[in-house]
Amino acid sequence: MVNKKGDKAITKDVAIDIVVFGVVQGVGFRPFVYRIAKELGYTGWVKNIGHGVEVHLESKDKTDFNDFFTAFERAKPPLAQVEDTQVTPSARFHNCRDFVIKKTKEGKSFVFISPDISICESCKEEMMSPTDRRYLYPFINCTDCGPRYTIVEDLPYDRDQTTMRSFTMCANCREEYENPFDRRYHAQPIACPVCGPQISLINAKTHKEIKGGITKATFLIKDGKILAIKGLGGFHLVCDPFNFDAVRRLRQIKKRKTKPLALMARDLSIIKKYAAVNPAEEAQLLSARRPIVLLKKVKDIRGIAPRLEEMGFMLPYTPLHNLLLEKIALIVATSSNQKDSPIMKDIEEGIENLCDYVLTHNRPIHMRSDDSVMKVVEGAPLFLRRARGYVPYPQQVPAALESPHHVLALGGELKDTISIYKNGYVVTSQFLGDLDDYKNFQYFEETIAHLKRLFELKPKVVVSDLHPNFHTTRYAERLGLRHIQVQHHYAHVLAALLEHKISPGKMVLGVSLDGYGYGEDGTAWGAEFLLADYDGYQRLGHFKYVPLPGGDLAAKHPWRMAIAYLYETFGERGAEKGGERSGGRKRGRSTDWSGDGTQAMKTLSARIEQSTSLKKVSTRKRNAALEMIERGMNSPMASSCGRLFDAVSFLVGLAPREMEFEAEAPMRLESAAEESFLKSYRFAIINDEKRGQATFYRGNKKSSLSPFFHISFIPTIKAILKDLNQGVPVSQISAKFHNTLARVILKVAERARQKHHTDTVVLTGGVFLNKRLLTTTLHLLEHKGFKTLRPVVYSPNDESISVGQIAYALNLLQKHTGHK
Ligand SMILES: [Zn+2]
Ligand SMILES: [Zn+2]
Repeated sequence: MVNKKGDKAITKDVAIDIVVFGVVQGVGFRPFVYRIAKELGYTGWVKNIGHGVEVHLESKDKTDFNDFFTAFERAKPPLAQVEDTQVTPSARFHNCRDFVIKKTKEGKSFVFISPDISICESCKEEMMSPTDRRYLYPFINCTDCGPRYTIVEDLPYDRDQTTMRSFTMCANCREEYENPFDRRYHAQPIACPVCGPQISLINAKTHKEIKGGITKATFLIKDGKILAIKGLGGFHLVCDPFNFDAVRRLRQIKKRKTKPLALMARDLSIIKKYAAVNPAEEAQLLSARRPIVLLKKVKDIRGIAPRLEEMGFMLPYTPLHNLLLEKIALIVATSSNQKDSPIMKDIEEGIENLCDYVLTHNRPIHMRSDDSVMKVVEGAPLFLRRARGYVPYPQQVPAALESPHHVLALGGELKDTISIYKNGYVVTSQFLGDLDDYKNFQYFEETIAHLKRLFELKPKVVVSDLHPNFHTTRYAERLGLRHIQVQHHYAHVLAALLEHKISPGKMVLGVSLDGYGYGEDGTAWGAEFLLADYDGYQRLGHFKYVPLPGGDLAAKHPWRMAIAYLYETFGERGAEKGGERSGGRKRGRSTDWSGDGTQAMKTLSARIEQSTSLKKVSTRKRNAALEMIERGMNSPMASSCGRLFDAVSFLVGLAPREMEFEAEAPMRLESAAEESFLKSYRFAIINDEKRGQATFYRGNKKSSLSPFFHISFIPTIKAILKDLNQGVPVSQISAKFHNTLARVILKVAERARQKHHTDTVVLTGGVFLNKRLLTTTLHLLEHKGFKTLRPVVYSPNDESISVGQIAYALNLLQKHTGHK
């Protein structure tokens, strides 16, 4: 990595200049360089410049600088992310007497702010050492660890601009803070028991403080009580996972019957009692970012993740959590939000109504942030939620997309994030939730203000989704900036292109599978095959449109989708096209109700009666849904992939009649799938070429839309019903269904390669949180020589929409085309 161009020129009285690029500011990089330079006897300086740090090293007696580079490589600050190091012989020998940290004005650089980072090993050792002055102190931290993003209010990042401002450093802390050789040199949240924050334990009913602190808190948890515990980005609700009554009460408080609850374990050995942990998962659990990792159960804990094969675990990340878990091995630690509201950060927000006791402290949280949640797929993260520990880590954009303008992107509506672009980097906010909830919308506004302030953003351009009624779209319209709109599924694909630094001009096949997104033609898109680059995309094909009886309700009641798919398969429209394999000639006649309609309806009724799971839905409700479909009332058509999963999950008897949380039905279906079962079902690719040539879209330019093909799952549904009839185990049906979708993607990829010479396939959209589908598809594609890209830094779900929006805007700004 180090370019040793300078080596030859080095003799006596030598000097070199080193420029380190990447995330190296505000992470203790300068003091780190200072320490090694001083220890090794070099003179010179270190200072922040533009995108990095500049080091000037001088020596009167050394022949090379190898000892410096060895120390440099070995002990880089854990928060630093070095992207490149350039070394050149210095033009001048300054004859420096000392090594100094030069102060610089932070000019046009991208000033980096660290995410919140879990307690480091050195701090942990001190905290557990009885002779240390911070023995058992729950707010110990240093330059390498502790709170950052959640306590910073403004720039520059010093103590006065953080929520630590009200704590005046004692003489001992100040000495450490000012000493470049100390691990706490310029650690803004530095604190000790004498001068720093303190905890208090409060009875939630009486609002009175009680004695006993952390020790008492653990007794209360063991005693079946529910505690709210203040962490970095908000409160957790905590209870004993083995006390079923406590878990049930916690579920009542959170109004969640089945949604999985996260667990925090003292150490890996505890986790391994209940879950299988492979080395890559272990590395994520142990990383300083401390995400929740979903792991395969080996021993279930009743009530924690019912009907799912995975449980979510994390290791303690604050000193406070570490002290708490010294005395209790495993706790439920779920975020303190009530349904559709952001995580609570202050006691005044009503946390006392959700628990029996509150373990809080007086270091204010400025910015809320939930725990991050991931699975590990093929050794790399697959984020379900990206927040604490990762935000606001910046993402460098491909050089060709860099722009002098600042950009603000507002994302979609559900699982929203915002992203900002400045000086070559994108910063994406933490997960903000569903903006249809007023409190979440306020959180969205708080977060925009926060990021704008922290990164001194003066956006020239704002980007939103195409959906005219999204809160984000309307918010964008009110800003009075140049407003660019990007289609939802295309934004998903672009996010992956940006993350993987794909250059402009490279065409990929984007496979964007999710629940719903506003289509270019105003219809509901949801399972899209897009030939795409940064300039635009062509919609090559999609899943067949299926009615969503009841509109939004269809996403909550999987039985509605089961009826819709049976209708498509056996009802009049379905019967008419029952024999379709390829060609789809009868497409235009789908509203022709004459002919053998009655017979078809009889078949349909019989099929519905035969379905064990549909029989559990009242006849009245079933008929109402059927009528809606028949009359085309409140039954929008959508090419959704999520709804297909709902239907299949319900038909095989896994989905509940009413889903409590998003993707509950698909998650149960995935959990049921038999491993390494290779069979699949038939499906049909129906060519729509008679409908004219597909148009190559640039931006949101409107014109008629003509897909090349659609995928019909009528043969699949028929075969699933046959399997059910013949008593084939649900585990095998589920496996076959997953394999079918993977084969659909492979077939489409092969078509695209043949016709458009694309060998790269992007797999994105919330459906790819399904690990079974993702790994099967990756293997199939890679086996056939495709290069695959999937979001790793970001979630494939709608959290990445704002990132894709940035990519599109940057490309447009590059071209100076000027059109919207
Ligand atoms: Zn530390
Ligand atoms: Zn102190």
